[in-house]
Amino acid sequence: MTERRWDPTLGEWRTFATHRQGRTFLPKSDSCPLCPSRPEHAPTEVPRPAYQLAVFDNRFPSLSAAPPQPSVLGTWLHPVEPAAGATEVVLYSDQHDLTLADMDVEHLSRLVDVWADRYQILAAREEVRYVFIFENKGEVIGVTLNHPHGQIYGYPDIPPRALQELQTATRHQEEHGTCVWCDVVASEHAAGIRIVAQNRHWMAFVPFAARFPYELHLMTMRHAPSLLDLSDPERQSLAALLKTVLTGYDALFGFSLPYVMSMHQAPTDDGPWLSVSHLHLEFTPLHRTADRLKYLAGSELGAGAFINDTVPEQTAAELRAAVDRAAASGAA
Ligand SMILES: [Zn+2]
Ligand SMILES: [Zn+2]
Ligand SMILES: [Zn+2]
Repeated sequence: MTERRWDPTLGEWRTFATHRQGRTFLPKSDSCPLCPSRPEHAPTEVPRPAYQLAVFDNRFPSLSAAPPQPSVLGTWLHPVEPAAGATEVVLYSDQHDLTLADMDVEHLSRLVDVWADRYQILAAREEVRYVFIFENKGEVIGVTLNHPHGQIYGYPDIPPRALQELQTATRHQEEHGTCVWCDVVASEHAAGIRIVAQNRHWMAFVPFAARFPYELHLMTMRHAPSLLDLSDPERQSLAALLKTVLTGYDALFGFSLPYVMSMHQAPTDDGPWLSVSHLHLEFTPLHRTADRLKYLAGSELGAGAFINDTVPEQTAAELRAAVDRAAASGAA
C-alpha cells in the first residue's frame, strides 16, 4: 500500500509505503544491487560492466508517477490521496567503497550536473511541485545499502520544513525588503567566525542557531533560486567546496562521518518563490563526539525545539582545524 494521508491537526501530508518494510537491508558487498553487473551473477540495478554515475527509479518507491488508489476512503476531516511523485536513486560511482569525500572535484562536478539535470526533468512533471535532493550516509542514519548513493524525491506539494523556510523568507522580505539567505551570507561573511570554508562563489558555515553540533550550511554567495541558475564556474565551486567540507568532516574524528544532506531550492509549483528561494545544502551529522550521538528526544520530538549542547563558534573552529588537517594530509 502507498498513499498520502492528511494530518488535520498539523496541516501536513504524511506518506505511507508499507512495501518498503521488505526492502533489501545491508547486503554483503559481493551481492550489492548497486554495483555494476558482473558476468555469471544475477544482474544488479545497473545492467552494465561499469558506470560513472547512474540514476534510476527507486525499486521500493514511496512516491511514483502512477500510484495505486489509496487503501482507505478519505473523509472531510481525513483526506487521502494517491502517493504521486517521484523517488529516484543517484549512484555516485561504481566503486562500492568510495564516498563523496574520496572522489575528485571533477567527478563531483559531474554529480552537480546530474543533480541539475534531474531537477529540471522532474520539475517539468505536472505532479511534482518540489524536488528534494538528499543523501543519508552511514548506518547510524539508517542507511540500508552501503554503496555510496543519494536520493531524489519529487513531492506533489512543498514539504513542511521547506515550506516553513519559504514562508519565513517571505515574511522577512515583506519586513526588510531583502532575501533572508542573502542577509545571512553577508552577515556570516562579515563575522567570519562561523565560516568553515569558502571559495569564490560558495561559503560553508555553522549556522548561528545550529540545531546539531557539527551542522554545516553551504550557500551560494549570489542569490540563485536553484541549481539551474548557477553558471558553470559556480557549479565547479560547489563541487570544490563539497570536497573540502567532506574531507574535513572525515578528518574531524578520524572516521567517515555519517550525515544527512538536504538540498533546499526553488519549488517547482510555479508559485511566487523565486525571490525568497536561495539554493543551499544543509549537512546534519548526528555525532556530538567521536562516540556519542545527538538523539532527537523530548524537546526536539515533542516540542519541536532543538537544544544544542555545543557552541557554534567553537564547533566551527574544530571543523576549520579538521579541514586544515585534511588539506595537510593531502586528502583534500
Ligand atoms: Zn556496491
Ligand atoms: Zn538570496
Ligand atoms: Zn534549508
